[in-house]
Amino acid sequence: MPEAKKFRVYVSKDYLKFNAAHFIAYKGFREALHGHNYRVSVEIEGELGEQGYVLDFSIVKDVTRRVCDRLDERTLLPAQSDCLSIETRGAQVLVRFEDDEFCFPAKDVLLLPIVHTSAEELARYLAGEIRRELARDGIMIQGTIEVGVAETPGQVAYYRDP
Ligand code: ZN
Repeated sequence: MPEAKKFRVYVSKDYLKFNAAHFIAYKGFREALHGHNYRVSVEIEGELGEQGYVLDFSIVKDVTRRVCDRLDERTLLPAQSDCLSIETRGAQVLVRFEDDEFCFPAKDVLLLPIVHTSAEELARYLAGEIRRELARDGIMIQGTIEVGVAETPGQVAYYRDP
């Protein structure tokens, strides 16, 4: 177990959000298609750099906004679902669950490498994406990244990426 770092930065802003449609599905149960105005917060742990920062706030905000924008105004589908059949056919995406079938324009959906589009699994996905985006900008995070995803105010799921 790595030693906990003493410093961390936390960002939570009105513009760190995405509006998206989804439904939770598991064997024998499916929610109706519906949407949320998701809000995202990010906490990054690390050592204090020579400039006196763990990480510049503006970098955390930029990267998080970039990642959120990719999910904005999409229908989010869990590509690894164990109960949905998801098939891309030309410009359409067909989704089947038991006797129900959806057909979406492919450009309106985002297939995510997760099993369910719960706030918990979205938080884990976003933490990975934020870490990857930071690495692409040459910033390696040594400490943990924690992402919070709120479906509605006061209802937040967190994932801590070690
Ligand atoms: Zn929902």
